[in-house]
Amino acid sequence: IREVTTLATLPALRSQRLGPKAALIVRDEPLSYDALERRSNQAAHALRREGIHPGARVAVLGRESLDSLVLLFGVAKARAVYVGLNWRLAPEELAYILEDSGAQLLFVDEESAALVPRVFEKMRGPLPVVRVGAPLSAPGAFAHWCEGAAPTPLDMAYDPEEVVVQLYTSGTTGRPKGVLLPHRSFLAISHALEAHGECWIGWTEASVSMLFVPTFHIGGLWWLVRGLALGSTQVVLRSFEPATILSSLARYRVTHTCMVPAMMQILLGEPGIHQADLSSLKAVVYGGAPISTALLEKGRRLLGCDFAQIYGMTETGNCAVCLRPEDHQNAPASRLRAAGRPFPGVQVRVLDEQGHEVPPGTIGQICLNSPARMAGYWHQPEETQKTLVGEWVMTGDAGYVDAEGFVYICDRVKDMIISAGENIYPAEIENVIRSHPEVADVAVIGVPDELWGEAVKALVVKQPGSTLRAGDILRHTRGALAEFKVPKSVEFTEGLPRNAAGKLLKGVLREPYWKGRERRVN
Ligand code: ATP
Ligand code: MG
Repeated sequence: IREVTTLATLPALRSQRLGPKAALIVRDEPLSYDALERRSNQAAHALRREGIHPGARVAVLGRESLDSLVLLFGVAKARAVYVGLNWRLAPEELAYILEDSGAQLLFVDEESAALVPRVFEKMRGPLPVVRVGAPLSAPGAFAHWCEGAAPTPLDMAYDPEEVVVQLYTSGTTGRPKGVLLPHRSFLAISHALEAHGECWIGWTEASVSMLFVPTFHIGGLWWLVRGLALGSTQVVLRSFEPATILSSLARYRVTHTCMVPAMMQILLGEPGIHQADLSSLKAVVYGGAPISTALLEKGRRLLGCDFAQIYGMTETGNCAVCLRPEDHQNAPASRLRAAGRPFPGVQVRVLDEQGHEVPPGTIGQICLNSPARMAGYWHQPEETQKTLVGEWVMTGDAGYVDAEGFVYICDRVKDMIISAGENIYPAEIENVIRSHPEVADVAVIGVPDELWGEAVKALVVKQPGSTLRAGDILRHTRGALAEFKVPKSVEFTEGLPRNAAGKLLKGVLREPYWKGRERRVN
């Protein structure tokens, strides 16, 4: 994999070695490495013809298609910057990202096309639009738009340090931030694994990977690029559909896949899972959000393959820490609560509020030094300075490292509750409450309190038909948690606000209680 140093040169290198082998299979349509090279060259020439110069932003909105994936490499070859947009966002949010990025051209698929006029309404003016993933007859379709463009390489040199992708963070703690990712963000961890002789999760050229995590998040895009750089075949689903996942797993003899915990929860609840042919599956990678040990154990039991967890963020170019398959096997139960140990080449430090390193076992802010780290935030020098300190990314996550070097994530620093001088991490309390069989969902927040500074409050969604009362929740947590972590109040609610990535929006939940008051952590 070492010879692949940029997204721009990847298709040619793999086409030379593997030619007609399927690089991608989208909606059951295969695309060979040869075709990926030719078609991405055409896309790059067409982008140049359209006036897209090096450094220009090109936005893509919609579900994954062969067109959109070819376009990623076309954009890289034109030395432009690929901005992947989350099609679950509201028009206002999309308008914000399009204007913030300064995109000059928008590619959109059939499903999201209806959204576009409403997005443009919220903007200073419309952008030129090209349709992707549409039949040839559709106006402005991608194949038409590429017509006449040469399938030969552009006469350009590529630099691994140049920014090639701009991805927006999930917007869990505020407005999404545009993260500038150079080529190396997608390849550095793979290079380090190879140099270290670690065949991570057994993913090789002979593997078949499946992707249903979207490529507008770093997790999906990183997975796609790694699979192509390895020369393996990627089966890409258009979105998360449990029944399609199960049938495609069997049909394509998929060996490797990845998901976030919320997807695992739904997939494991799919009735067909008990009859599905999962015999080809070698490893499942999960991460992106905290997982409960109950869900992890159920997953291991039902899927019956190796499991690996990854921890990281958009700013670190996806994963920096990994709980490897061998860490899941014959390990003490407490080990399954860890996020893992750093990948080769990555360093972890835990800092206190004054910025001093703390000893093992002490909770502080997790800081990561990764060769895959971002170049900075787009147009936000102050935020960049706060988050990227020298080579270190301040993650904003609270956690600790144990004596053996395993990293444990407690919660976001911003969500930590300080009650009567005790630091409390809501995720721990949520885990306990969620284990109650009549609880469907839960969020724990800190609300202002005269006596305690902040008081722990639980917002609980009941399972349908449940007659659960506050006292039941308190009794359930009392045995499992120290008294100061037991909620001071419990409120039942119909649903909890989540962002398009499925992550709880704690700021929105806290807002009515904190109106006009300053919260100490921010
Ligand atoms: P924003 O930065 O806009 O508030 P976000 O932080 O949710 O949004 P991402 O970069 O998509 O945006 O997510 C990274 C965050 O996800 C990490 O900082 C961490 O809080 C959480 N996370 C990722 N992997 C794990 C994991 N394995 N366990 C627990 N939390 C995780
Ligand atoms: Mg973040």
